[in-house]
Amino acid sequence: MKTIALVSCDIDESYHNPFSQSFVDTCKELDFRVLWFQSLSGKFNDEIRDEGEMNIFNLINFDLIDALVIMTMTFKADDVAYALIKKAKEKNIPVISIDEDIEAAYSISLGYERALEEVIRHIITKHGARNIKFIGGDKGNDASDAREAVFCNVMKEYGLECGEDNIDYGYFWWSSAADAVQRHYDKFGSMPDAFVCANDSMAVGVCSKLNELGYKIPDDVIVTGIDGIPEGNTHIPSITTLMRDVSEAGRTAALRLSQIFSGELSPVGKETVDGTILYRESCGCEPVRLSIDDNKQKHDLYGQVELWNGFSDSIIQMSEAATGNYSFEETLDKITLFLKNVWTKECWLCICNDFISSANTLEDVFKSQNSYRTEGYSDVMGYVLHGIDDKKFDFLPPFKSEKMLPELDMIFKKYNNIMFLPLHFQKRAIGYIGFEFAFSERNYHILRSLVTNVSKVLENARIQSELKAVVGRLEDMYIHDSMTNLYNRRGFYQLAPQIYNKCISDGVGFMIVSIDLDNLKGINDTYGHHEGDNAIITVADALRSASNEYDINARFGGDEYITAGICVSESYAENFVTRVKEYLDNYNKNSGKPYLVEASCGLYSLVPATGKTIDEFIKAADERMYDQKSVHRKHTGYCRRRI
Ligand code: GH3
Ligand code: MG
Repeated sequence: MKTIALVSCDIDESYHNPFSQSFVDTCKELDFRVLWFQSLSGKFNDEIRDEGEMNIFNLINFDLIDALVIMTMTFKADDVAYALIKKAKEKNIPVISIDEDIEAAYSISLGYERALEEVIRHIITKHGARNIKFIGGDKGNDASDAREAVFCNVMKEYGLECGEDNIDYGYFWWSSAADAVQRHYDKFGSMPDAFVCANDSMAVGVCSKLNELGYKIPDDVIVTGIDGIPEGNTHIPSITTLMRDVSEAGRTAALRLSQIFSGELSPVGKETVDGTILYRESCGCEPVRLSIDDNKQKHDLYGQVELWNGFSDSIIQMSEAATGNYSFEETLDKITLFLKNVWTKECWLCICNDFISSANTLEDVFKSQNSYRTEGYSDVMGYVLHGIDDKKFDFLPPFKSEKMLPELDMIFKKYNNIMFLPLHFQKRAIGYIGFEFAFSERNYHILRSLVTNVSKVLENARIQSELKAVVGRLEDMYIHDSMTNLYNRRGFYQLAPQIYNKCISDGVGFMIVSIDLDNLKGINDTYGHHEGDNAIITVADALRSASNEYDINARFGGDEYITAGICVSESYAENFVTRVKEYLDNYNKNSGKPYLVEASCGLYSLVPATGKTIDEFIKAADERMYDQKSVHRKHTGYCRRRI
């Protein structure tokens, strides 16, 4: 049983879908398993976002795969594609490159040249066209120049004119091609036998202008295109065109792998899958229909509109539901409601264990801002949200990211292909989602949009959780004194009233102790401010040690403190003051400092009568503290009174 990694960028529904569907289907026939790593890079010309998208390729564990199939043309960042090929080669893993010749790989190109030659020969030999005009894209564009060269070669082959008058440019655009027809008419007053256009959109534009000028297609003028877009089929007349056989290329890639594995085919080489021709009405191969009444087509279109409307509603709902003030886990829970839009039997949302930081200081937050993960995934994927049958979601235990999914072997017993899409915010890696890619129900753009929105919701949850940590920290700082870690005056007035009110309602005593360090100025002046700070901290420690868990200790100012508490017993308040003094005595005995840390304390306690305020308690306690200070005459200076 072989495991193949398929990697691609961008989304082009007409390219990715037929290729990967036939590739996966053929792999199933051959008993190969497919891990499809898909990034949306290249779509929006946004380098930072692209980096986040392409990080999904760092998930590939080359030790677990047997071959790499790379849709090289879809990579705008060639260096990323080449690095993947190099890594595979280093591990001796065969590489198949789609649509770009890579020396070390087996390259499969999607050709259209031969089909284009055939179409031009067809309108010459079957429909008798002689005077033919080619409408290219833009001069200098590789694809346009290559198509022009094919045109000139075939014209020469039949000895037909291929000069300046037979070539014009329509910039691959509907209206510009119509302008080219007008230019021809203005110059010659007539039309050529046929217009060969470098894409279908231009062919449709040419038809429109011909109609306007009164020419009938194909009776007066033949028109052909390239690409095989759906509009070319529904247009009246339907456009004779050719298309690159993307589906055949997907099948070929799987078959070549099987030959490489069995040794029948060298892992280095190249081949071209020819395009296919769709002979339709615009060259005269089919009679032109008068009108189209294709109910199936209408049904499909309405179905698409319904799908988008429903999806759009569910995205709005998700943004609202998941961007509330929820924890990260709650947010993940909300997301499950929307993962059903992945239309898959089973999916795994895997989130790096370092995505949600444990920052709870301001410094941590700043650090995490500067050092978030942009490359690869954490060794362990911390959150694994597993959904099954659209409904049931559960969290799986963390697993090692080198395994890509928890129990991949078990998963492969159920499904033969798993797609991985990155979850990221700009460059920041969030994680990835893996699921079975069920082609028949897939709308690729909806899926991408869903995953992008899920990423945003997760990023929002991360910011919320970090913000909560910061706000918590700031709130803490707002009510605390940084030197002593006691409450500050603000903190005191936030908390003391709760105790005070409880004393009123329980009819128990409320106490205020006012404390002021003795002779701090002297300590500062003699031993320096550092020692003064030590004295301030020591008194704070004394208060803490004397308190029970309900007391509120606050540093009110320089060396002034207030303690508020419930008098749990009659002697509690006196004992409190005694415990403070004892603590300081003990400190002074053992500190080895040349100064004593002493404090004057004033105590006021009473069962508070409603109407007596905390400030009145403080005033009374302050007075007693100042009385004590002057009685002890520890300090000769004046005693400042608290206002
Ligand atoms: P008393 O015994 O009467 O309380 O006098 P005192 O020297 O303690 O002075 P007082 O309480 O009147 O004034 C407090 C002094 O504490 C004034 C100021 O220089 C000093 N001080 C205030 N905040 C700090 C501080 O954070 N650190 C230090 N080292 N000193 C401070
Ligand atoms: Mg003092």
